[in-house]
Amino acid sequence: MTILYNKLRVRVSLDAIRENYRILNSISGNAFAVVKADAYGHGLIRVAEALAEEGADTFAVGTVDEAVFLRKSGCRGRIIALLGPVDDNDYKALVPNRIIPFVGNWEQLARLREAVAGAEKPLEISLKFDTGMARLGFRHSDVPRLLSVLGEEPLLRPVMASSHLATADEPGNWSFVQEQSRIFQAVLDALREGGVPVEGNIANTAGILAHGALHHQGQRAGIGLYGCNPLAGTEHEALGAKLRPAMQVSAPIVEIHPVRAGQSVSYGCTWRARRDSVVAIVAAGYADAYSRGLSNKGGMCLHGERVPVVGRVCMQLTAVDVTALAESGKSAQVGDEAFLLGGEGPGRISPEDLASWWGTITYEVFCLLGLNRREYV
Ligand SMILES: *Cc1c(COP(=O)(O)O)cnc(C)c1O
Repeated sequence: MTILYNKLRVRVSLDAIRENYRILNSISGNAFAVVKADAYGHGLIRVAEALAEEGADTFAVGTVDEAVFLRKSGCRGRIIALLGPVDDNDYKALVPNRIIPFVGNWEQLARLREAVAGAEKPLEISLKFDTGMARLGFRHSDVPRLLSVLGEEPLLRPVMASSHLATADEPGNWSFVQEQSRIFQAVLDALREGGVPVEGNIANTAGILAHGALHHQGQRAGIGLYGCNPLAGTEHEALGAKLRPAMQVSAPIVEIHPVRAGQSVSYGCTWRARRDSVVAIVAAGYADAYSRGLSNKGGMCLHGERVPVVGRVCMQLTAVDVTALAESGKSAQVGDEAFLLGGEGPGRISPEDLASWWGTITYEVFCLLGLNRREYV
C-alpha cells in the first residue's frame, strides 16, 4: 500500500543498501537479506533485485504472501517466510513457490504434513526455536519429539534451525544473549546428533556486529542493510559506524509568513512565538506517516540547517520556525524542499534523531515513512 496523494518524496539509495550488504556479509560470512515489511519501507522488489546482484541468495520476508510476491517477481534465491504459514492460502502456496517457512509449533507441523502430501519434492523448512524471546518457536525439550515426527515425514526437509535474539543491541543485557546462544547451540547439537544436520541462524544485525560467537552458517541482516547502526549511542557504536542510511524524505514548503511575538501557530495554540518570527508551512503531516507525536519536537533540515517543528503536526501540514535561518542569511522560499529525514549539512536528520523525537526506533520510522511514494537514486 502506498500513500499516493501527497507531496512527499522518499528517496532510496540502492547503492547505500548494496554497500551495507557488502559490509555485513564480510563480517558475518553469510548474511541473509531480511526484506520483510516491504524491505523496512525501502521497497521489497527493488531491494531484493539489487542485493541479488551483490550475490545475496537467501531472502527473509514476513508473511507467506510477501514471499510469493517476491518469488513471482522473478527472485531465484531461497525465500524464507519468518512468520510461517497462518491460513489455508499460506499452506497451499508453499510448495508451488518453493518458500521456506519458519515452523514453530505442532499445529503448523501437522498442517504442513497435509499440505505436502503428494508433493513431487520435499519442502524445505526452517525449525524455529524459542530461546528466550517467548514469542514463537519450539523449545529445546521438543527436539526428541520433533526428530520422531520429522523422521516419519520424508516430504518435509528441515534445512535450517533459527532463533531470534531479544537483547543483542543492548550491551547492558548481553548476558541474556549468552544464555540464548547457549540454548541454541544445545538445540543444534541435539538436531545433529539426531541425524538432522541443519544450518543454524540466530544473529540479527546487532548479533552480526557485536557477537562473533553467534555466527553460524547464516545470519539474518535487517536494519543494518538500511544503514542504521543498532549499537548507536552505546560504547560499541564503532562496530557499526560504516553503515550508511539509504532513505531520505522531503516535502515542499507551501507557505511562508511572519508571526508576531505572542502569536500562536496551529491547532490548540500549543506554540507561541517568543519574538517576531518567520514560520514556513511544509506539506507533510500525520496522514503521510509523519507522526502527530512530533508536534513541538525535533525539526527538519532546510538548506543544511535544522529548523524546529512548531505547534501541532496536522493531517497534511507541519509548521517549522525559519527565523534563525533567515538571520543566517539563507532565506527560505516557497517550493524549497524541507527534509523530514536526511538532508545535507549540519542540520541533517539522522534516522536515530527522528526516532528519538518520535519516541520509537528507526525500524518503525522507516516502515511508516516508506509507505509514501519512493524513487530510487
Ligand atoms: C526482522 C528480523 C530480523 C532482522 O533483525 P535486524 O535487527 O533488523 O537486523 C532477523 N530475524 C527475524 C526473525 C526478524 O523478524
